[in-house]
Amino acid sequence: MERAVDNRSSGPSATRGNLEEMLAANRAFMAERRLQAMPDAPTRKLAVLTCMDSRLTGLWNEALGLQRGDAMVLRNAGNTVAASDDVLRSLAVAVYAKGVEEIVVLGHSDCGMTKIQASAFIDAMSRAGVSRDAIPSIDFREWLGAFAREEDNVRDTVRAIRESGLFSPDVQVHGLLLYVETGEVRAVQ
Ligand SMILES: [Zn+2]
Repeated sequence: MERAVDNRSSGPSATRGNLEEMLAANRAFMAERRLQAMPDAPTRKLAVLTCMDSRLTGLWNEALGLQRGDAMVLRNAGNTVAASDDVLRSLAVAVYAKGVEEIVVLGHSDCGMTKIQASAFIDAMSRAGVSRDAIPSIDFREWLGAFAREEDNVRDTVRAIRESGLFSPDVQVHGLLLYVETGEVRAVQ
């Protein structure tokens, strides 16, 4: 079947969706590369918690000189443990099952979680037809994990990991902030 318009250079279109694009890319990848086997425990004994922001993909690890296999990685909205035990659960797996000895919380500038308004967020869910019962009504802001300043959030997250009681003081927890415009990384004290 002929395509009327080929949009491959300008991103996915109705005729060629994301899934088809990704599977085609994988066929090209498989033709070009043969992956080396590596251990599943991170070679640098490191776990990194960073944001799900798409601008960090392909940037954050390169900015820190980390290669595939060096570190375990957790990503969520705003690199936070707010309202979720799942980050602590995963960090516990990293430490007690995979030999991780050091944890890095990597925040970034211009984080979307500083811009989210709880009321607009609830409105958007309602407009999309989400049932009132499914929208967390108590402490919605806490559930959302929004924050005002990226640096403060990194500090709070480092403190929450340290004070979780799940890790010995021997596990180091560091806070870093990555500037998405330049790739510069600074320590958060
Ligand atoms: Zn972010």
